[in-house]
Amino acid sequence: MWRARFARMTPDPRAVTRALVRWFKRAQRDLPWRRTRDPYAIWVSEIMLQQTRVEAVVPHYERFLARFPSVHALADAHADDVLHAWSGLGYYRRARQLHAAAALVVREHAGTLPADEPALRALPGIGRYTAGAIRSIAFGEPAPIVDGNVARVLSRVYALRGAHGEARREKRLWELATALVPARDPSAFNQGLMELGATVCVPRAPRCDTCPLAALCVAHARGREEAFPPPKPRAAPARVAQWAIVRVRARDGAVLMRRRGKDEVNAGQWEVPLTAPGAGAPRGAQRVGAVRHGILKTAYKVEAFVARANAAPRGSRWIAADERVRLPLTTLTRKLLKLLPGGA
Ligand code: SF4
Repeated sequence: MWRARFARMTPDPRAVTRALVRWFKRAQRDLPWRRTRDPYAIWVSEIMLQQTRVEAVVPHYERFLARFPSVHALADAHADDVLHAWSGLGYYRRARQLHAAAALVVREHAGTLPADEPALRALPGIGRYTAGAIRSIAFGEPAPIVDGNVARVLSRVYALRGAHGEARREKRLWELATALVPARDPSAFNQGLMELGATVCVPRAPRCDTCPLAALCVAHARGREEAFPPPKPRAAPARVAQWAIVRVRARDGAVLMRRRGKDEVNAGQWEVPLTAPGAGAPRGAQRVGAVRHGILKTAYKVEAFVARANAAPRGSRWIAADERVRLPLTTLTRKLLKLLPGGA
């Protein structure tokens, strides 16, 4: 039905599909997840790519798969090992959901990732976009995908009105992606859309002179590429000042840490506790520097102090140097530990 509706549109959906698939086959970057058809490996790559750039994902992806080469290996792993393997990728909720989903796949699907949309979307961490990516790339199903890159490309090619997050625009984008995705080679088409958005049809100064869709693109014909979609209004990050009192046990250099609770950001990770500026610094605490750290829309400036201590208050534990290598620590805590003598 959508095909019929969009067939009247300019540019012709078939011409767009053909040009994009041909270009992708010729110009795609060699990425490790493009060398496999293993649905588990493709699933892991899609989860890692959700909020992280391709270049940052590559080394993590290879290490993660070497450590957990199958759904079974991941399902059997200890949560701490999964979080540790995810260290450096951020947005740890993705790792916890992937781990929980692997257990469900083993329990309910005999260890084989399902190919149908409702079953995929019933798994933690798999939404409409990720389900479409897995179905098209791993199973060759003509399932649509829309993410930020795809939305930008389609908005420009079809000069779609509407700003980021507008419900009507979202609906149009999904309809359009559904109409465009071909029964033959949906994987190359979807990956081509993502690749074009990541490497050619970039947010600022798109490289239209090398674009396979240049002859078809309405925004380009009008010379108004960057007007689609209209730029997002950006809020300045909130600035928060905090103190970290790094308590070090005199006899062995162990550091006092707490584990973040289930409902907190970075749940399950270990951290040096933070306080409001001026609160909780014991006598003799020595300032060792400050670190800056951004989480979501907040920019933290944390002044770090070191104090000698022996007693561990309730809810915290001494973590020795060798454990600090193995346990999942928050990125902020890793930065703070680097300020200690010896960069521990
Ligand atoms: S012609 Fe330019 S604006 Fe249009 S899809 Fe290609 S890169 Fe994007």
